[in-house]
Amino acid sequence: MHCAIQKAEALDGAHLMQVLWHDGAESLYPAIWLRDNCPCSDCYLDSAKARKLLIEALDVNICMEDLTFDRKKVYITWPDEHYSEFEADWLKKRCFSQQARAKLQRELFLPECQHWGSELQLPTLDFEDVLKNDEHAYKWLSSLKKVGIVRLTGASHKRGEVLKLGKRIGFLYLTFYGHTWQVQDKIDANNVAYTTGKLSFHTDYPALHHPPGV
Ligand SMILES: [Zn+2]
Repeated sequence: MHCAIQKAEALDGAHLMQVLWHDGAESLYPAIWLRDNCPCSDCYLDSAKARKLLIEALDVNICMEDLTFDRKKVYITWPDEHYSEFEADWLKKRCFSQQARAKLQRELFLPECQHWGSELQLPTLDFEDVLKNDEHAYKWLSSLKKVGIVRLTGASHKRGEVLKLGKRIGFLYLTFYGHTWQVQDKIDANNVAYTTGKLSFHTDYPALHHPPGV
């Protein structure tokens, strides 16, 4: 993203900054938000990409003392003489307009959702491909997010396959079942899962508090 600032000015008694971009778009930024997100080394730890400024040090009624700009940056001096610089690209990426926020939501959270009925053709991928190939792993996860179910075929009939799949994308969550649980037919089964009968789609007790997600 390469955005150029055409104009930046203080509005609303310097509680708000308006940026006019060269492409004609406009963005508004509250002064309190700018002060809270100051990227200087006193307020922000760059190596951790994390804010250092404590909320107790923040004046919620703060306004800008001075505001200047060029094509690439906005420069703000605060009433206590603290000084902040904000890059144009950084500001543009954080534009608060509904349109910009919706775009960011789409990029960050893949909200696309496919509702389906009995006509669904189950998205199907090969187990080994998912383990070995990043593109297939991405397809698995993005389909799981969108459709809610994906069938993986071709796994070996041996213990540890689910473990391999879990480790492919992260750490296994420890529950009272342990990391995994062997579901098998048992005499005098104390749970329908331990019979040879069909099971409905379900999630298990540990998922009551921490539902599975992607
Ligand atoms: Zn600062």
